[in-house]
Amino acid sequence: MTTTVRAALLSSVGAQLELTEITLPDPGPGQVRVKLAAAGVCHSDLSLATGVLRAATPVVLGHEGAGTVVAVGEGVTKVAPGDSVVLNWAPACGHCHLCELGEPWLCENSYAASVEPYATLADGTAAYPGLGVAAFAEETVVSENAVIPLPQGVPLDAAALLGCAVLTGYGAVHNAARVREGESAVVFGLGGVGLAVLQGLRIAGAGPVVAVDVTPEKEELARRHGATDFVLADEQTAKTVRKLTGGHGADHAFECVGRSTSIRAAWNSTRRGGRTTVVGIGSKDDQVSFNALEIFHFARTLTACVYGDGVPERDLPILADHVRAGRLDLDALITDRITLDDIPAAFDRMREGKGGRSLIVF
Ligand SMILES: [Zn+2]
Ligand SMILES: [Zn+2]
Repeated sequence: MTTTVRAALLSSVGAQLELTEITLPDPGPGQVRVKLAAAGVCHSDLSLATGVLRAATPVVLGHEGAGTVVAVGEGVTKVAPGDSVVLNWAPACGHCHLCELGEPWLCENSYAASVEPYATLADGTAAYPGLGVAAFAEETVVSENAVIPLPQGVPLDAAALLGCAVLTGYGAVHNAARVREGESAVVFGLGGVGLAVLQGLRIAGAGPVVAVDVTPEKEELARRHGATDFVLADEQTAKTVRKLTGGHGADHAFECVGRSTSIRAAWNSTRRGGRTTVVGIGSKDDQVSFNALEIFHFARTLTACVYGDGVPERDLPILADHVRAGRLDLDALITDRITLDDIPAAFDRMREGKGGRSLIVF
């Protein structure tokens, strides 16, 4: 038995996404089939489509999704048909070196599913699941490791954002940087993840919180997500941020762009001894340079975080608590609700630096 569903397919790197039908096998041992309720369009999808990040093709992208389990394979115990779940694009194996060290977000095997074909096209060609998830389709088949039961009280469509932007942004603040109440912060880049970082900072009680972007239209969005100040990025950004943080610089910077210029500006915006957390994913051709003296003198920390240094099974119930209490506003992050054939327009908005998250609602 197989299932045929509509999907947005990337046939090769640099191509336009095309709507097509793919055939999914029944879930094998340890696998589940999920009917998507919604999928967010993440900047990493654009990077995979343009080749900045590598993916096997043809591929169904989309890695931020939520839906309902419709079938389970042999031996699946974690979920049952009818369960609401969030998809996890970096499921930890639990037994590699880094999992054993207690850093499952860096699991050496988390990308295993993305290099195995999971579906077939009409002509029989095998297709790959983007980041192992393939959420740009009506249904997908994944390992039970890659689904997290959705706690009660979170709307299923908006819950998609918990699977990437929110886990990443909130986790950057609370798991990676461990921002404390009253600390100052600056956030570079106000896409879905940057806005989620702002909400994470609001929950942490940070302040002042300076938001930086290249698009003036982002100011209103930034303030709605908890920014106390907005700075339009230019060569003086670091100086401006220092002025807004008592002349010292911010305790924390979050870089959500993935470019050398904003990584440098983020680092320069922090105080002596401050911490910069790079959340954005950049290109291997983009070099960031530091002189040897400034590294010593400023005694700052520059670090990255992957998937918010998160443990989805642990963190999702925490995020759901925040949603139910009204502290975390998922709807505010969603600026465009779209259909499966509108992904190219969502990519264009991203390139132009417009809006927050585009959410495909099935
Ligand atoms: Zn993502
Ligand atoms: Zn592992």
